[in-house]
Amino acid sequence: MRIFDPHIHMTSRTTDDYERMAAAGVRAVVEPAFWLGQPRTSAASFTDYFDSLIGWEPFRAGQFGVRHFATIALNPKEANDPRCRPVLDLLPRYLDKDAVVAVGEIGYDSMTPEEDEAFAAQLALAVAYELPALVHTPHRDKARGCERTLAVVAESGIDAGRVVVDHLNEVTVKLVRDSGCWLGFSIYPDTKMTPQRMVELLREYGTDRMLVNSAADWGRSDPLLTRATGEAMLAAGCSDDDVDKVLWRNPVEFYGQSGRLDLSDLDAAAAVDPQTGNSILRGGS
Ligand SMILES: [Zn+2]
Repeated sequence: MRIFDPHIHMTSRTTDDYERMAAAGVRAVVEPAFWLGQPRTSAASFTDYFDSLIGWEPFRAGQFGVRHFATIALNPKEANDPRCRPVLDLLPRYLDKDAVVAVGEIGYDSMTPEEDEAFAAQLALAVAYELPALVHTPHRDKARGCERTLAVVAESGIDAGRVVVDHLNEVTVKLVRDSGCWLGFSIYPDTKMTPQRMVELLREYGTDRMLVNSAADWGRSDPLLTRATGEAMLAAGCSDDDVDKVLWRNPVEFYGQSGRLDLSDLDAAAAVDPQTGNSILRGGS
């Protein structure tokens, strides 16, 4: 089973996680810029964070044969902090980088006027830089948050096929499906979605435009729940091809729209022994 986790915050995870993910079949990840729990006090701390998302973290992932890409944005929560707003001016510098495959995560947290403004401004950047957009939906008042999200996406003029609306569930799935946007589902140990509920949604709505992620971060989460979802699909009678489409080909297609998703050296990288870091192809030299 080859797995592409289209939303995971590896900054908050250990190297043990990389090792377990690689062993479970995770060969590529996208790490969206987000809130680190501790509020940032200036735009400068975003610079260091963004640099680590396109520098240190891909290097760390590479040691385990995992390809690492990033999405860059001012996250919805910190869009409300005037100390963080100048980050919007820093974004163009990062949106030009090859390791950046989308603008994200953007969208709503508490649905404030400040969030409205940052959301619209960053969708405009996605259009200007011809990048897809990763849109977070609020955890409270989900249906209303999702409706408003889709309205702002439609207003921005971005092609719906270049937008993934994330953290969906049974309440919001249909709304987003009808919009033409891609659908993201975060599989969590005890909130959001479970592998079993995900299988039910795939049965009902099919596999087109469906993305499954672990959204693992500094909270209670599990980077192996993508694999668990693939196994739950097989146990429920889905084919290997269905699993490959949802867990690999769909994220490749979505982020491939950036023109920057270079997976060409993946076979060579997959041949690195995660235990020793030696290349299996070259006999460990
Ligand atoms: Zn996230």
